[in-house]
Amino acid sequence: MSRDADIAPPMNADGTGARLARNRIRVRGVVQGVGFRPFVFRLAQQLDLAGWVRNDGAGVEMEVQGPPGNLSALLARMIKEAPPLARVDTVERADCTPLTGDRGFTIRPSEGGAVTTAIGPDTAVCPACLGELFDPANRRWRYALINCTECGPRYTLTRHLPYDRANTSMAGFVQCETCQDEYDAPAHRRFHAEPNACPDCGPQLALVQADGVRVASRDPVADALLHILTGHIVAIKGVGGFNLVCDARNPEAVERLRERKQRGDKPFAVMVANVASARQYARVGNAEAALLKAPERPIVLLDKLSDADMHLWGVAPDLDQVGLMLPNAPLHYLLFHDEAGRPSGTAWLDAPQPLALVMTSANPGGEPLVIDNTEALARLAGIADLYLMHDRDVLVRCDDSVARIADGAPAFVRRARGYTPQAIRIGRKGPPVLAFGSYLKNAVCLTRGDEAFLSQHVGDLSNAATCAAMDATVEHLMTVLACRPEWIACDRHPDSYATQAAHRFAEAHELPLIAVQHHHAHIGAVLAEQPVDEPVLGLALDGVGLGDDGTAWGGELLRVDGASFERLGHLAPLALPGGDRAAREPWRMAASALHAMGRSAEIAPRFAHQRGSERIGALLDAGTRCPPTTSMGRWFDAAAGLLGVCEVMHYEGEAAMRLEALASHYGPAFAQPGGWHIDAANTLDLMPTLAALTGGDAPRGAAVFHATLVAALEAWVASTARAQGLRTVALGGGCFLNRQLAEGLSRRLSTRGLTVLRARQAPTNDGGLALGQAWVAIRAAMD
Ligand SMILES: [Zn+2]
Ligand SMILES: [Zn+2]
Ligand SMILES: [Zn+2]
Repeated sequence: MSRDADIAPPMNADGTGARLARNRIRVRGVVQGVGFRPFVFRLAQQLDLAGWVRNDGAGVEMEVQGPPGNLSALLARMIKEAPPLARVDTVERADCTPLTGDRGFTIRPSEGGAVTTAIGPDTAVCPACLGELFDPANRRWRYALINCTECGPRYTLTRHLPYDRANTSMAGFVQCETCQDEYDAPAHRRFHAEPNACPDCGPQLALVQADGVRVASRDPVADALLHILTGHIVAIKGVGGFNLVCDARNPEAVERLRERKQRGDKPFAVMVANVASARQYARVGNAEAALLKAPERPIVLLDKLSDADMHLWGVAPDLDQVGLMLPNAPLHYLLFHDEAGRPSGTAWLDAPQPLALVMTSANPGGEPLVIDNTEALARLAGIADLYLMHDRDVLVRCDDSVARIADGAPAFVRRARGYTPQAIRIGRKGPPVLAFGSYLKNAVCLTRGDEAFLSQHVGDLSNAATCAAMDATVEHLMTVLACRPEWIACDRHPDSYATQAAHRFAEAHELPLIAVQHHHAHIGAVLAEQPVDEPVLGLALDGVGLGDDGTAWGGELLRVDGASFERLGHLAPLALPGGDRAAREPWRMAASALHAMGRSAEIAPRFAHQRGSERIGALLDAGTRCPPTTSMGRWFDAAAGLLGVCEVMHYEGEAAMRLEALASHYGPAFAQPGGWHIDAANTLDLMPTLAALTGGDAPRGAAVFHATLVAALEAWVASTARAQGLRTVALGGGCFLNRQLAEGLSRRLSTRGLTVLRARQAPTNDGGLALGQAWVAIRAAMD
């Protein structure tokens, strides 16, 4: 400390003589477009600090000056009280020389620089906006596109960075004077709320007939609800695209929607007003309630109450869970507000309400979600009776996310709206990698530093439109992250559009490409989000993925050591009679199992009603068009086929899901004695269990199959881990969506002292594959 008066710290502005300090502070994380600068502004005012704050390419930067104690308080409160949508990753602080006479605090214009910041995800309408939405005296009373810096759309309406109004689909709407004042006022909740709008200056709702003619309606929401309540199907524009909506309590309407969407028995998601309403249909514990209410507002898979199917007939047939979600857009809230009789205030928001709306993605024929108004009229013709839309464009399609609570913590089935583009921390920095993902449930992934950005769910690449959507997603992800890849990763299956696109991209940009084995990538996805550096034992249980020997794998025990893996064991192969068809027709897998048991004579009588059943035995004898697979999914199908639970599937995973529902309904069961064996080559054969299932009693059979499977896998994994000297087991692949399997096996392996890792932030199915590919590529690039 100097005694020289010339360089002594300046006195406080009030002349009290207290010593002043000045800090330069840099904050990184999700801190732009989330109200962070006004938040700092308010804190600085409360703490009597001088200085400034601004956005720059790396996040938020500020200089603050005042008594040292107040500076420390600012730092502490900046982390503790950050706005709900902000995520503070790092705070760097450096001392600098105090400026004499610096007074007041300002928000400075943005500084350029290399963009490393992330755009925020779309977020459900916040409590403050709900308060205004239902306050008859507020100028935004029942305004369907209300938002602020603490809520609303981000990702789905942004063309490119920086996140400014001019780069969003709000560019064409000029703010009225009142809105502009809010937008310009540093202390206001709408300071730089880019989609800020009101009924005077913002987008408007419209009710449109199937022929495109606008309905002369003074109240489009009330009229749309009336149509829904009288059995019609209304296409409603949501945050990430259109939903098809009908009254979930009206079986005829639900059936009509099913027929028009040609959807088979695939379950629908249902929107209810709040947690109390969800409890009318499903078991909702604290963790489930928190997930339902999360600002990301996913569809949450919940255990049905015993009478749920009576109220929601045909919504999720033959399954033990139903997907429920709470309103996310203000427009959704308006429907429930109408149904509640339009009360003033927000007390009604917590009261149970009978209204339940089927809310399913408007993606006819498995093509991408409809996002555009004109496109909606064309592509939903013959499906929707009416359209409730507005003129704020959705620029980036984003399906609803699907999650559930597994072992007390959230896990994804589909990761999209609300979560994209939240980063997944992958524990080590590497070169940027672009991974192209899988054929089914495609999503792509781009890494930047130690963050992985898994794109929103794109869909099955079975049609040109979805392939084009994948290409657009790749471009958009690179744009909004301002990141160009240095490595490319993809699956090893040469026929997938994703793989071909990856090769084209790598060639065009002269980048190194790494093709990652499918199940290696599944285990990689688990290891990416829970960084482990030592080798692990990976158990991948899955539908299908190309193996290194050219056959279809899907029940694999792998030793995974970063970029390399070794196959330590697999399920006994089953023949796929008829090739790919066998993956959709469980009766064929049952026939395959009967043939393997030497009971081919039973095939034709059992499945006489299935075309080709009389020839399938000969096909299996000859071994023509009967490629082998080690897929766990096909073993589930065989069990479901033998028990008569599901002979032909209408959606992927149906047989296994129905089998699981029967098993959980039945309750605990013992494993089949002698139900499996493991041979010298470490192949696990479950055929003895299947042989015991052929007797009938589906619920009991389903329960025994699950119990035997868990016991067999436990023995197999534990003995392999011991032999390999491995202590950590990573469980990956689509079959781990099965809770009986995932939770039962995790518990048992943990009891044996093994550390069990499962996917949490990315889906365990192919929706998370790109993350695993990227992780393997990073390890390959670094090693
Ligand atoms: Zn808000
Ligand atoms: Zn306005
Ligand atoms: Zn897979």
